[in-house]
Amino acid sequence: MQTWDGKRYRQLNGYLREKFGEKVFKISLDAGFTCPNRDGSRASGGCVFCSPRGSGDFAGTAADLVEQFDEVRGMMNKKWKNGKYIGYFQAYTNTYATAAVLREKYETILNLPDVVGLAIATRPDCLPEPVLELLSEINEKTYLWVELGLQTIHERTAEGINRGYDLDTYVEAVRALKKRKIEVVTHAILGLPGESREDMLETVRFIANTGTQGIKLHLLHLLKGTRLVKAYENGELKLMELEDYVETVADCIERIPADMVIHRITGDGPRDTLIGPRWSLKKFEVMNAIDHLLMDRSTWQGKRYQPDDEIIRLFQV
Ligand code: SF4
Repeated sequence: MQTWDGKRYRQLNGYLREKFGEKVFKISLDAGFTCPNRDGSRASGGCVFCSPRGSGDFAGTAADLVEQFDEVRGMMNKKWKNGKYIGYFQAYTNTYATAAVLREKYETILNLPDVVGLAIATRPDCLPEPVLELLSEINEKTYLWVELGLQTIHERTAEGINRGYDLDTYVEAVRALKKRKIEVVTHAILGLPGESREDMLETVRFIANTGTQGIKLHLLHLLKGTRLVKAYENGELKLMELEDYVETVADCIERIPADMVIHRITGDGPRDTLIGPRWSLKKFEVMNAIDHLLMDRSTWQGKRYQPDDEIIRLFQV
C-alpha cells in the first residue's frame, strides 16, 4: 500500500512541504482581470457555475495587489505564524491581458518577501505565444504552475455549462505548456448537469493520462448569482448527495497516478452565497469520510490507474 504522510493520496500541502522544506501558503488574488467568456469576446454570461467574483471568492478585496496579498497573508498568519507563499492568481482569467500587463502583475507578487512561486489560473484558449513566452521566462526563475479549468471532457456538458472552448483547445494548451516544462494543474468538476459517475470518471481518466503534475476535484456548487440557479429552480439540476460524492471521489483517487498531486478533493463554497449542497460546508467531515472509505476499500491513489496509450500519445511533446 502506498501512503503520503499517512494519507492515501498525495496532497498539495505535503508536496509543497517536501519541495520547500516548510509550510507553504497559497495566497488567493484577484488581479482585476475579466474573462473572455464574460466580456463577449468568446461568449457572454460566463460559465454557468461561475460566481460573480469570477470563481475567486476567497481572494482579497483590496484594489492594490500588494495590499490584497497582505490582507490574505494576515488571515493565514492568524493560524500559522511562519511559512513561505505562492501567489495564486485565481479570480477570472489570469492570462487575459497583454504580456506587459501580466508581467507587471506577476512580478509585483514575485518581488514580495518569502514568495517562492506563482500559481496562475486561466483558460486553455487564453495562452497566445507572447503569454507562453512570458510564462516560460517566469518558469525559469521561479516555481510556477498553470491551472486550466477543463471541468469535463464531454462536449455536450461543456456546451451546457457554456465553457466556450473545445477539448482540442485544452490538449493544445497542455502540450504548449509541457513543451516549455511548465507544470499544469487541471480542474475537474464533479456533479455537472447531466453527467453520470462514469462520465466523471472518464474525465478523470483523461486528465490522469496527460503526463501533467496536478489535478483539482471540485464539487459542483450552486452559488447565488450564477446562471445555474435557474436550471436548479426548473428542476434540470440535481445536486450531489454526500455519499455519492464521497464514493465518486474515492473512485477518482484510485484512477489518478501516484505521482500526480491532488490539489483539492472538495470545493470551497462561500458560506453566505452557497445554496447547495450545504453539507459541503463541513469540509473536514467530507475529507474524513473520503479517508474512511479509502481505508474500508483498502485502496489508495493510483491503485486502479491504467495508462491509456491513445490519450498519452495526444499529450506527447
Ligand atoms: S472561464 Fe473561469 S472566470 Fe471565466 S466564466 Fe468560466 S469559470 Fe468564470
